[in-house]
Amino acid sequence: HPVPDYLRGVLESIRHLEHGEVAQYIPELAQADPRPLGAAVATVTGRLHSAGDDRTEFTIQSIAKPFAYAAALADRGVETVDRFVGLNPSGEAFNELSLEAESKRPDNAMINAGALATHQLLVGPYAGRQERIDRVVSLMSTLAGRQLSIDHATFESEMNCADRNLALAHMLRSHGILHDRAEDIVAGYVAQCSVRVTVRDLAVMGACLAAGGVHPLTGERVLGSLVTRQVLSVMSASGMYDAAGEWLTDVGIPAKSGVAGGVMGALPGQVGIGVYSPRLDEHGNSVRGMEFFRRLSEDLNLHLMEAD
Ligand code: GLU
Repeated sequence: HPVPDYLRGVLESIRHLEHGEVAQYIPELAQADPRPLGAAVATVTGRLHSAGDDRTEFTIQSIAKPFAYAAALADRGVETVDRFVGLNPSGEAFNELSLEAESKRPDNAMINAGALATHQLLVGPYAGRQERIDRVVSLMSTLAGRQLSIDHATFESEMNCADRNLALAHMLRSHGILHDRAEDIVAGYVAQCSVRVTVRDLAVMGACLAAGGVHPLTGERVLGSLVTRQVLSVMSASGMYDAAGEWLTDVGIPAKSGVAGGVMGALPGQVGIGVYSPRLDEHGNSVRGMEFFRRLSEDLNLHLMEAD
């Protein structure tokens, strides 16, 4: 079949890229096998193609952020969520201890401060820790089209070295952005990061966003079109850590990466893309993952800003 053959060809042409390192700051991720390489593409019309290590599971990490944001927007409404989380790129590292100068909100939902604030907003003001986790895992499962589960080893490993996220949570609490215990919010956030996915899951989840919130395989409306539009907008501005501007210019596909080595793309009206390769560059983005996207953008004319 031409599409899997094409995907296989791209993967083989980038396999030699061996620079970068697996994430070091979470012990469980530091032990990851750096070799897997897999990719998948799902169209908004429901075709799914994949190649390479397409059934290998890895933790979603920061790629959960757009989905938790979508859930919070759906649960609490745009106005409420916007009061607690901003819409602008931060220009700083994903785990920086900083807030918008005037509003004291986190800059956006794609950095950790914003993701912690987003996690607090899930379900409703009186939800407990487990309800919030269930909400985001269940939305991601619906979008992936299968029941996703949490990798407990990665969860425990990250919880044992969560000082940075705890510091962020305490800072947010001091500004009234979080009201639950810092430990509960961080545990919920780390649980959402520890959900296991494959590149096929990421492609289908991305295709749901690309299709304005309608599931490409079932035709079911999972997210509202305005919610989806807001998620994709924030993802475009801030999804690739502090390299988001270069990414939008070079590749032109809204995307979100995670420190386990996954990257998910969503090109409105067209496709969702998932790729996995654990070695990361200095910004925390998968080296081969980014190259895969560059190749697809170029070969298939996927750049969002290109008129023809
Ligand atoms: N769980 C990771 C953290 O909070 C996710 C980071 C990421 O993928 O960017 O540090």
